[in-house]
Amino acid sequence: MRGGCLCGAVRYETHAAPQYAGFCHCRDCQRATGTGHSCHMIFARDDVAFSGSVRSFSVTGGSGLPSHRCFCAACGSQIFGSGPPEDPRWTVYAGTLDDPSEFAPGETVMVRSRPAWDVADHGLPCFETMPPEAGG
Ligand SMILES: [Zn+2]
Ligand SMILES: [Zn+2]
Repeated sequence: MRGGCLCGAVRYETHAAPQYAGFCHCRDCQRATGTGHSCHMIFARDDVAFSGSVRSFSVTGGSGLPSHRCFCAACGSQIFGSGPPEDPRWTVYAGTLDDPSEFAPGETVMVRSRPAWDVADHGLPCFETMPPEAGG
């Protein structure tokens, strides 16, 4: 898969299939994306190569560990996410794909903070909180 930010300064390429793909309705994802949920994929950190300059902002995630959100230094598009440096996982936000149809979400998490106006009829399993496969 290939993708990049709104202005084109950051580009990435993945070298393996995602280990996980889903929707997240947590408040952090809502604030970071400005929408009702994030669309994210988790890869092995080594399977995603990128070029361009990203900045990051860190908060303490629901797991109690730091959560880093990486965005283009020029246009602000949120592209990547990660946990602590020793965490081998690397999140890619699916809206940045060149071909968004490559995103194949398997479930919806953190629906306890899903707003009534963002309920999709996609028939996927829904979890009130963050199940382990989603990083919880
Ligand atoms: Zn950009
Ligand atoms: Zn989230």
